[in-house]
Amino acid sequence: MLGSTFVAMRSYVRAKDSSTGKSTMAIRDRFSKKLTCPQCGNSGFAEASEIDDAKRKNPDFKVDQLPRGFFVQRSSVHQETFMLKCECGRKFPFRSLAEAAAGRD
Ligand SMILES: [Zn+2]
Repeated sequence: MLGSTFVAMRSYVRAKDSSTGKSTMAIRDRFSKKLTCPQCGNSGFAEASEIDDAKRKNPDFKVDQLPRGFFVQRSSVHQETFMLKCECGRKFPFRSLAEAAAGRD
């Protein structure tokens, strides 16, 4: 049902292909995640989004906003290889492999 909390968390992006007149729709999942630097303990919430489709090899992961003191070291379309850098100099992935192994939710 539309109107459930789950659906409300998502935004629907419609794009019209003018050459074929066909509508395509991709659903981007937007979420926030608490980041904590393993070295200095600096933490805050990051805003991020990715395409919600398990069949896609490329989830087109993007970080929309980082908390203060965190920077993008190396961007990637996968959370596990998207590298952040803390103001203390520590580099770490947006999502650790341990978190990834625990499942998506
Ligand atoms: Zn740090």
